Amino acid sequence: MTALSTSHRLDGGLDGDLRACLADPGIGEAIYGLASAIYPICRSITGPGVRETLNVLGRHVPIEVREVPSGTAVFDWTIPPEWTIRGAHIRDAAGKTVVDFADNNLHVLGYSRPVRAFLPLAELRRHIITLPGQPDLIPYRTAYYDERWGFCMAHRDFEAMADGTYEVVIDSSLEAGSLSYGEVVLPGETAEEFLFSAHICHPSLADDNCSGLALLTLLAERLSKIKTRYTYRFLFAPGTIGALAWLAANEDRLGRIRHGLVVSCVGDGGGPTYKKSRRGDALIDRAMAHVLRHAAAAPAILDFFPYGYDERQFCSPGFNLPVGLFQRGQFGKFPEYHTSADNLDFIRPEHLGASWAMIAEAIDVIERDYRPLNLQPKGEPQLGRRGLFGLVGGDKDGPARSMAFLWVLNLADGAHSLLDIAERAGLPFSIVADAARLLGERGLLADAP
Ligand code: ZN
Repeated sequence: MTALSTSHRLDGGLDGDLRACLADPGIGEAIYGLASAIYPICRSITGPGVRETLNVLGRHVPIEVREVPSGTAVFDWTIPPEWTIRGAHIRDAAGKTVVDFADNNLHVLGYSRPVRAFLPLAELRRHIITLPGQPDLIPYRTAYYDERWGFCMAHRDFEAMADGTYEVVIDSSLEAGSLSYGEVVLPGETAEEFLFSAHICHPSLADDNCSGLALLTLLAERLSKIKTRYTYRFLFAPGTIGALAWLAANEDRLGRIRHGLVVSCVGDGGGPTYKKSRRGDALIDRAMAHVLRHAAAAPAILDFFPYGYDERQFCSPGFNLPVGLFQRGQFGKFPEYHTSADNLDFIRPEHLGASWAMIAEAIDVIERDYRPLNLQPKGEPQLGRRGLFGLVGGDKDGPARSMAFLWVLNLADGAHSLLDIAERAGLPFSIVADAARLLGERGLLADAP
């Protein structure tokens, strides 16, 4: 990844407002801080945890919170009753607490119905979920559309439970209420939109939830301070049902979405991973593949497949939106995934900062890509006379910048976009786009008709 430092700027021109606004060496720490603030909250697909999370995120950028009543039909689904969890525990016959929701909110099976009972271990064990292969970790499990209750715990603790009768309490409720989701819309020069989406339904899981929510919130805050070409929409909705509720409410406006990115698991050191939209050839697909190939030695660029996050809904055939998925480690492929090991030690500020930088580069591509036309196409124009030859000497990107002028001038025939040129030249988009900007300022390039 090429980060332009201040010393590389020319006439204040090489770094546009956007790049300068998004370049921030301290951003990883800031994202980590916000992820830490929302980590303890017990989220689910409905309930007070989602609202509390939106409230914390909303201190950084104003978030419109929408409520969709229980029972509302959204396509083939129905908004479920609202789940509230106040506490839960298992105590042995001596009154010793074996499991306590207050210690870790993963202990309760998500959407558990309330229960108060004394049960023999033989019966209780049918309601306990463990990971025998990872005996020290608490699994994350849910039962949204079942009438169930249950506990999740470390297998090692479960094995230590002696026969006998246990007191079991889950202080929860499932009542008519609503599903909450949050939206931030930042109007740009055009009504065409770049959609960013993160799920907001997982309890204390740092990478698979908090990292994406925190990164996108601070991105929205940052983009709210500058002018952009596209309108930016940030969606913080519960997985699947929340995305469907949003799609149902916005069905007549979906044509505005020109680019989209689902963001999750951006705080670990894996990947980077990009899963293409169902279309496979959308500009976001090309932009992300380009950025990741310049950012990492071996990025994973995956074709679309119909499981994962809310790209499943955005890319369902009735919508087929140009929305891909950005992650570091791929979901389900790292051992911490959906366990208590996905905690605040698992995510790191430096990984969050690197993920931010990759997303910032992709935004730069989307914002600045266009098809230029060389206005002096007969022979090479004389760059020295225009102050462009040897303009940038000494820095490691100097040769690349010189080559970028030649590539842009040669391929600016109206048929190639800047991203086409960057790919053909094997140069980072930012260097090509900066060269095009300078050539444009010298009167050598125009927008192709
Ligand atoms: Zn998950």
